Amino acid sequence: MTDGSSWRPEAVPATTIEECARLIAARLERCALELGASDLASPATWQQVADRLGVRYHTWYSPGGDRGECAWHPLFGCAIAINEAYPPREQAAAYVHELAHAAVFEWIPPQLTGAADVYRYDDDPGCVRHQVARRVEELVFPSP
Ligand SMILES: [Zn+2]
Repeated sequence: MTDGSSWRPEAVPATTIEECARLIAARLERCALELGASDLASPATWQQVADRLGVRYHTWYSPGGDRGECAWHPLFGCAIAINEAYPPREQAAAYVHELAHAAVFEWIPPQLTGAADVYRYDDDPGCVRHQVARRVEELVFPSP
């Protein structure tokens, strides 16, 4: 639109993305610990977390393909898919990433300080969710 009248939602502030990511990372890690997980780098740990959180998952094998996907359905919730062609630690990171996408879909807006809303964006909403998910991955798997 060029007439200047098109409505644009506000950008999601970086602080909201960080707050979202920290809440999600803390919840995922707590869930893994409650399940008695001994190895956060194991895909099996995150499969148990997915079960606990009610997120359906499946795997596929596609060398060179995407690491994972998350799909959301208003009635059936989230389902994630993980590519088993990657090494186990990368698969574990992909579970964390896709579970973070699922978390943004399902839990976040009412829980944030000041009712900040990650769906208030000036960008592709998938892009904002992805920024949150990347940050969650960094928090759970800090670079050495
Ligand atoms: Zn993503």
